[in-house]
Amino acid sequence: MRAMLLEKVGQPLRLADVPTPQPGSGQLLLRVHACAVCRTDLHILDGELSQPRLPLIPGHQIVGTVVELGAGVERFSLGQRVGVPWLGGTDGTCRYCLRGQENLCEHPEFTGYTLDGGYAEFASADQRYCFHLPDGYSDLEAAPLLCAGLIGYRTYRLAGQHAERLGIYGFGVAAHIITQVAVHQGRQVYALSKPGDTAAQEFARSLGAIWAGGSDELPPVELDAALIFAPVGALIPAALRATAKGGVVVSGGIHMSDIPSFPYSLLWEERSVRSVANLTRQDGEEFLSLAGQVRLHIAVTPFPLELANEALQALREGRLQGAAVLTA
Ligand SMILES: [Zn+2]
Ligand SMILES: [Zn+2]
Repeated sequence: MRAMLLEKVGQPLRLADVPTPQPGSGQLLLRVHACAVCRTDLHILDGELSQPRLPLIPGHQIVGTVVELGAGVERFSLGQRVGVPWLGGTDGTCRYCLRGQENLCEHPEFTGYTLDGGYAEFASADQRYCFHLPDGYSDLEAAPLLCAGLIGYRTYRLAGQHAERLGIYGFGVAAHIITQVAVHQGRQVYALSKPGDTAAQEFARSLGAIWAGGSDELPPVELDAALIFAPVGALIPAALRATAKGGVVVSGGIHMSDIPSFPYSLLWEERSVRSVANLTRQDGEEFLSLAGQVRLHIAVTPFPLELANEALQALREGRLQGAAVLTA
């Protein structure tokens, strides 16, 4: 099969002809129709996440149909459309797994990082970590739901049920999905893009944000919570400054530049800062069920598989409105 391979950190992916994977026990073999590109893929390519398997087929937002079943598969059948997310496996036995925090598992596997992913014509995946996908979304539209959507949703959920005024810093793929969820649930969304990015601000307003500006501005009201989807550490103190007493700042990214020091007064009055790591399968089931009820508008830019490097570069340079999605 054709696949885009990462052979060495810091180098472009290479189009290669590799053996089609065989589904092992409990695994599905999928014909990949779409695989969305994520900022985490850039962090892996750049060596900011330091332990990828090599050579690696990246990609952890996979939409495919089941073409072969490994022994013992009972959750899916041939021909079904399936989504594969970042969380590709857990031990099920560590103290985190046992207390419902499998996103923090001591021995996890991650799709497109420790396991081969979806920048290819075929992919295999452990059925226990795959999802049924809601109808009403094309393959291209469904792919970004699997990380931008899922991890965006976990980030949003950790902002708490009482956050009426929600700030969203970094208006990329996760933000455009979560804005729609938040508006649907009756929250006020304040979007804060890169300063001067008026296209992103206009996009945010078109999706229901009641205010949009640059991250160097303060929204017109104090925020109950702020979600950060840009890998920029300076946004943490900026978001704290915009947050009301008792407010929470949640960072959704897997990697961020260093956070500059800031005065304790920004954190005082019971403000908090926290991060989000990975996802649990329950996050996935909840979010995909919601996406089945609320028809989310998903903006995508398709790229053929062999142009994965161009798609990654477009993401790096912030040239995309919505998600880059590879099709094989
Ligand atoms: Zn575990
Ligand atoms: Zn991702």
